[in-house]
Amino acid sequence: MNEAIRVSMISLGCARNLVDSEVLLGHVVEEGLQVVQDVEDADVVVVNTCGFIETAKQESIDTILSVARLKDEGNLKGVIAVGCLAQRYGDELKQGIKELDAVFGLSDYSGVPAVVRRIVNGSTRRWAATVDGGKPKGPRSDQKRFLLTPKSFAYLRISEGCDHSCTFCAIPSMRGKNRSKPIDVLVEETQGLAAAGIKELVVVAEDSTAYGLDTTRKRQIHVLLEKLAAVDGIEWIRLMYAYPHTVAPELTTFLREHPKAVKYLDIPIQHISSPMLKSMKRGVSGEQVRGILDRLRDEVPGIAVRSTLITGFPGESEQDFAALRELVQSYGFERLGVFPYSREEGTPAFDLPDQVPTEVAEARAAELMALQVPILREFQQSFVGQTVPVLVDGYDQEAKRMVGRTFADAPEVDCRVLLPKAAAEAGAMLDVTITGADVYELEGRPARGKRP
Ligand code: SF4
Repeated sequence: MNEAIRVSMISLGCARNLVDSEVLLGHVVEEGLQVVQDVEDADVVVVNTCGFIETAKQESIDTILSVARLKDEGNLKGVIAVGCLAQRYGDELKQGIKELDAVFGLSDYSGVPAVVRRIVNGSTRRWAATVDGGKPKGPRSDQKRFLLTPKSFAYLRISEGCDHSCTFCAIPSMRGKNRSKPIDVLVEETQGLAAAGIKELVVVAEDSTAYGLDTTRKRQIHVLLEKLAAVDGIEWIRLMYAYPHTVAPELTTFLREHPKAVKYLDIPIQHISSPMLKSMKRGVSGEQVRGILDRLRDEVPGIAVRSTLITGFPGESEQDFAALRELVQSYGFERLGVFPYSREEGTPAFDLPDQVPTEVAEARAAELMALQVPILREFQQSFVGQTVPVLVDGYDQEAKRMVGRTFADAPEVDCRVLLPKAAAEAGAMLDVTITGADVYELEGRPARGKRP
């Protein structure tokens, strides 16, 4: 009996790309191929690349080259590149990396298993041209995913693409315009995830607050969240990638009142100075952004706000940077990421005058993160002595502890809670008494006399 062809996936980039990897592996399984975790055990490795910024692009290329070396050692039969970098630089990848057997642009990847088979069956033809990996992602494409996340949570991608034209960003050029998936499709997907034991739904998009604008001309994110929250089995719903333009009162009401809404919002603002926001084409002023941030505090008491900032955008003056410094000190984000501007070819900002030297952009990013540390430490310390619900994600080999997250921690980007090894199984929602706090980690133990 022919052994199943073994495929391994290396998924790079953001949560939205991870969903693409899961969809691709869903097709692989559906076509009777086998998914293996370790690239050493695979016949073909698929690298799902990221093409967002320079460092991510370099990481994707380095990963492809390191996998290609396995091929030279003879075990591996094929290497396939998919994802954003493949979409953006398909031809360059093919010309530049001869070890690649196929390159797929962004799609539903339904065509990947057939090409894997051909590679393994010794088809010498090198899939020179960017192979159309299948149909553009349609509203039903994310069904039958092969989940790559622990059984505690899963990402739910609610739309594809983006209608904004931020001058530093290449995503719209790779993923196209905003296309919302129908509510019934997303409810069906969520029922499937709940049936698989998923407790937390992490809702992702390029701009989650634009959900429904393309199909109904109205913002429907709060309507969607209510429907998703009605699915039995799901206990937490977390919203990521809100755009700081319109955060409707209906959305803050959902975050404030719905028992399954995690009191958390990821809202990347990128900057706060109006001249910078204008040059970034964010479509909002500094006052508007600050207004939305303050409303979140007023309308959703106890909310944990995550955001990201860019330093060193072309033309950023000392005064612009002082506005960022003031915001970080006065607003007190519970979770914050700061990135030095990355000059991306093909984006309008690439050609802007007054490019800021990289070392200045990096120094400004480091300064803001240094200002954030005491703010983060104080927030973490506020958990000590409290008993809070913690979602257990699994066992961390390195820490030799079970790890979980509080309401204030999105997976993979925020902080975590260290628990005793026998605290509970992955996927359990546990009442935990917090006994200690560090900047990025809390210590806890199961609360006495509470649900296991
Ligand atoms: S909102 Fe702006 S930064 Fe985000 S994906 Fe769209 S264009 Fe890029």
